[in-house]
Amino acid sequence: MEHRNYVGGEWVAGADTAPNINPSDTADVVGVHARATAQHTNAAIAAAAAAFPAWSRSSPELRGDILDRVGTEILARKDELGELLAREEGKVLAEATGEVVRAGRVFKFFAGEAVRLSGERGASVRPGVDVEILREPEGVVGLITPWNFPIAIPAWKIAPALAYGNTVVFKPAELVPGSAWALAEILSRAGVPAGVFNMVSGPGSQVGQAIVASPMVRAISFTGSVATGRQIGTACLASGKKVQLEMGGKNPLVVLDDADLEIAVNAAINGAFFSTGQRCTASSRLIVEDGIHDAFVAAMVQRMKALRVGHALDAESDIGPVASAAQLAQNLDYVQVGVAEGARLATGGEVLNRPHAGHYMAPALFVETDNAMRINQEEIFGPVAGVIRVRDYEEAVAVANDTEFGLSSGIVTRSLKHAADFKRRSSAGMVMVNLPTAGVDYHVPFGGRKGSSYGPREQGSYAREFYTAVKTAYTLA
Ligand code: ADP
Repeated sequence: MEHRNYVGGEWVAGADTAPNINPSDTADVVGVHARATAQHTNAAIAAAAAAFPAWSRSSPELRGDILDRVGTEILARKDELGELLAREEGKVLAEATGEVVRAGRVFKFFAGEAVRLSGERGASVRPGVDVEILREPEGVVGLITPWNFPIAIPAWKIAPALAYGNTVVFKPAELVPGSAWALAEILSRAGVPAGVFNMVSGPGSQVGQAIVASPMVRAISFTGSVATGRQIGTACLASGKKVQLEMGGKNPLVVLDDADLEIAVNAAINGAFFSTGQRCTASSRLIVEDGIHDAFVAAMVQRMKALRVGHALDAESDIGPVASAAQLAQNLDYVQVGVAEGARLATGGEVLNRPHAGHYMAPALFVETDNAMRINQEEIFGPVAGVIRVRDYEEAVAVANDTEFGLSSGIVTRSLKHAADFKRRSSAGMVMVNLPTAGVDYHVPFGGRKGSSYGPREQGSYAREFYTAVKTAYTLA
């Protein structure tokens, strides 16, 4: 059965269809999805604009109840939705189910936030005048998402957008239309009025462009690559749209001599290779102090050789396939780049054959790398990490911050002094002590600095900065 797009409260066909292919087994077609064009997208935007006046004035309690129902259904169906997600994206079942649970919790969180939105009131400098600072929905918001978190990222954009009274045009990544469709289907039955939430699945060059180009769209929240993000940011600035961009990372994990080796290796294995390294918060630069370097590398290689790479639905698998043939080709290219730059491949980096035809590769660890190498400066977005040996803590901090990105960073140490200092001096938006750089809570701000992010933070109550407009009202009474 063909899965359609959701526009103005109706399920509509696209211009054509595309199969949703399982990266663990390319013979497995997960579903067939209608591909929308710019015309479908403009219809969705018009529906969202028409629905905005009533929705923006609706009771926050009503909006909260709807989001709560969505969260409840997602949580109740976590196993089934987790399986769908693992099948279409390739992360292993436990990770996929965890992501679904996170999405459910995000909807529950913003169900509560809907009624908690409040403003401020103060005295004016003019006698007899009151000043109120109010928050209002922005209008139609365009939400453009990547393939690596097929339900969590849509959830953490859609839930706050609706909670605060905006109407939504949601464009999922082409590689993972299944989880997006399932989420849209849940929303379609949760009591959302027609036109308030719309989903248009299709190519970025058509659907994404149409959202960015439309004068009816007031704000765009984008997560994806740096190149696309910059292009969208520039277009939004030119047309006066509010914009929020979450892009790449090249996240450092510092391991000091006094680290608990077990904690360091666990953090690095998880941060660099879980979810096949396809997280913008992945630890791709392992910055290791001289005294612990050799023991750390030896332990990493041993652990990596024991990691089981296989079908995402196989309970034995620790790591699933790479999400697509194109991404696998890019990862393998970077392995070649690293070798050509003079880094030593300590383990992994090769294609793996499995009983099912899928995009499998062995997680790769480079050693004897320099921070200036391309493999340490460019986001690879795969299971590839580089170890950078440093003399001392000062050099570690300098190397950690020597990147155009600034999403997440981490340090493994027993020293309170160094942990506290690193939290102060890291140029990333999120800092972890004795934890992987990836893996964050859903109720606190998420986002980076420098080339990683632009605009207000996502998630938690900070999400209101993006999804609401501030109005200052003066009254002489
Ligand atoms: P990735 O595919 O690595 O996640 P992209 O930045 O290419 O990163 O894609 C992220 C999202 O942006 C996807 O939904 C994609 O379809 C969309 N997209 C791609 N190009 C454009 C564009 N020119 N305008 C708007 N959206 C786009």
